[in-house]
Amino acid sequence: MLGLLGLLVLVGVVGAGLAGITITVFLHRGITHGAIGVSRPLYEVGRWMTWLTVFMRHWEWRLVHRKHHLYTDVWIDEVRHDPHSPIVISDREGIDGFKRVSWHMAAIFHDEARLPDIKDGTYELNGDRPLDRLDRTVFNQPVVGAVVTGLVYAGLLAGLAPLVLGVHRSIGFELACVVAGALAVGVHIALVLRFGGAINSDCHKSPEGLPEVGYAMNVRALSVLIFGEGEHLTHHQHPQLAQISRRWDLGWRVIQVLSLFRLAEVRCRRSEVLRPAARVGAAS
Ligand SMILES: [Zn+2]
Ligand SMILES: [Zn+2]
Repeated sequence: MLGLLGLLVLVGVVGAGLAGITITVFLHRGITHGAIGVSRPLYEVGRWMTWLTVFMRHWEWRLVHRKHHLYTDVWIDEVRHDPHSPIVISDREGIDGFKRVSWHMAAIFHDEARLPDIKDGTYELNGDRPLDRLDRTVFNQPVVGAVVTGLVYAGLLAGLAPLVLGVHRSIGFELACVVAGALAVGVHIALVLRFGGAINSDCHKSPEGLPEVGYAMNVRALSVLIFGEGEHLTHHQHPQLAQISRRWDLGWRVIQVLSLFRLAEVRCRRSEVLRPAARVGAAS
């Protein structure tokens, strides 16, 4: 059983890694900010991957994140506000906003997506691809995506575990694999929430707020764990950059490979905007 436990954790970690790549390359730098041009094949893979690994609606992710950039760490009223500012949440709700954002991004996105400005296209841009039947039927059901992924994990574990662990197949073992598949999805979701939450909590802790970028700060060491998103202040100042962090930007490496195959087009290089030695904001 210990071997199966190790395998399910491994499967959850790999799944969370795929989710991280999907978020930073497709959702964030691609369809939200347009820092890279997303080809049709990449768009198709990206929205399937969002459904199967991020468990969110890709259009809601895009709109809520644009709203975060428009109202960074600001609250005007119930509609016009930063959807997930730890500073605003702490001030308004009297709770630890950093903890809330670190672990509850899915719930925050869910509530925000029901507001009229997300529903009515306030944050839509001309280049956004319109939703189609696949979006309305399949990708509109993020919970189904999580269930499908759980079944895929159970199938993977049932297929691989006997080979890797040298155990005999039995009804009991197959049932254990189904449970392990569900637990692997739990590991996957917990990692995505925590590391996704890290960008919006640990990278919004600057001691001093600045106009338009709020309390965003660069936590370069975090880039290793969050696929290059650690230079969050740099990102708020220059959301058009395809490369966010100077070092440890795995998302940028993936984009370079995709552009080799003409699946993505780099629209704005970091070197065009920032000098190589530029130090923007405080590093940790
Ligand atoms: Zn931010
Ligand atoms: Zn952004």
